[in-house]
Amino acid sequence: MARIFLPTPLRPYADGAASIDVEAATVAAALEELVARHPQLRKHLYDDRGKVRSFVNFYKNDEDVRYLDKEGTELAETDSLSIVPSIAGGAEDLSNEEIRRYSRHLIMPEVGIDGQRKLKSARVLAIGAGGLGSPLAVYLAAAGIGTIGIVDFDVVDDSNLQRQILYGASDVGRPKLQAAAERIRDINPNVQVVPYETRLDSSNALEIFREYDIVADGTDNFPTRYLVNDACVLTGKPNVYASIFRFEGQASVFWAEKGPCYRCLYTEPPPPGLVPSCAEGGVLGILPGLLGVIQATETIKLALGSGDSLVGRLLLVDALSMRFRELKLRKNPNCVVCGPNPTVTRLIDYEQFCGIPQEAAAARANSSGIPEITVQDLKAMRDRGEDFVLVDVREPHEFAICAFPESVKIPLGTLPQNLNRLSTADEIVVHCKMGGRSAKAVQFLRDAGFRKVRNLAGGIDRWAQQIDPRMPRY
Ligand code: ZN
Repeated sequence: MARIFLPTPLRPYADGAASIDVEAATVAAALEELVARHPQLRKHLYDDRGKVRSFVNFYKNDEDVRYLDKEGTELAETDSLSIVPSIAGGAEDLSNEEIRRYSRHLIMPEVGIDGQRKLKSARVLAIGAGGLGSPLAVYLAAAGIGTIGIVDFDVVDDSNLQRQILYGASDVGRPKLQAAAERIRDINPNVQVVPYETRLDSSNALEIFREYDIVADGTDNFPTRYLVNDACVLTGKPNVYASIFRFEGQASVFWAEKGPCYRCLYTEPPPPGLVPSCAEGGVLGILPGLLGVIQATETIKLALGSGDSLVGRLLLVDALSMRFRELKLRKNPNCVVCGPNPTVTRLIDYEQFCGIPQEAAAARANSSGIPEITVQDLKAMRDRGEDFVLVDVREPHEFAICAFPESVKIPLGTLPQNLNRLSTADEIVVHCKMGGRSAKAVQFLRDAGFRKVRNLAGGIDRWAQQIDPRMPRY
């Protein structure tokens, strides 16, 4: 009968016992017997993979078993086994540099050495290194998350700098992952950055997700959002979610094992085009900062295993009124992916699910139905001084950025009440920023009896790109 001595912090998990006698021939067998009798001890002695925690040491009598036969060390009847966790100091897997760096964490009982080690062993996957991914990655790195995977294949653009704080002016034109990895290494060289310069899709998502404990979704499109949700459900990972638009944001933690998933909340994506993207509708630069930091907070809490996460709650943020509201989310018993009878049991074609091909087909049908002119044609018409009316259907704040001086400015939403400003007798060219809104305007005008009306393909943005490089782009 060997005797196991328990340290004070572990005694509450063993009914207060200071020592326990077990029948066991080796250290490993003695520990198994111990946790079989006191299951609460298991998480203190073993990690999630069933390995003995590296910050718990075991002594056979007065010898550290690491210098004997490790867990295979034999125990005789009269031997004692002492469990010695590192409580004060002696942090085996944090270097002195790390202890100084994280001192503000280490002095809080809610984190401490144990919590900091959990952060160091945590593996977090960030989907996207944009507006949300930037503050997320910065704070996760600063907090000491050991491994941060990032999926992104974009290049840093001027228009990113208004909110994507991972990047500076000198990064414009560089791959985001390259710039992000450099910035993160500068913040905290202890962090391992794993870059995935690829588009996340059904063929690679499960394989990538399996390598991580927590997934943080910072994407800006519906196909990827459903893909991330389903891949998280199928691999059992928590999905730390946030989304943003103009002045409003949402955040939650979707984790099918503990609560609802994204599909429980939104069974189906909105029809393509109904919900504008940030590129079309804009976003207050600070908003992804606010929401990305909420994502980082939830991620760190999950890694520490402490606090109340946003599982089952949808946080709504309105930055204009600075109001935070909270809605209760319920698991949908008929959810197609996390319900008891799922019909989605493997990843599907998310572009198709979100109607993207239909949208493309509709756009093609539109472009064949709606007469267009190119920016080169428009230039030739202007150069020749042809008689035609150029109509700008963008919003007033867009006119202020750039415009054709001679254009008639009628925002799309006000076109019906401004028809009297146009004549069916005139040759008309309609434009907007990219060509989408003006196509709707052309359709509307044709329905209203205008025949000589054409859409400027690619809008004023293409004009700025191909004809007039002095014109600002936005
Ligand atoms: Zn669900």
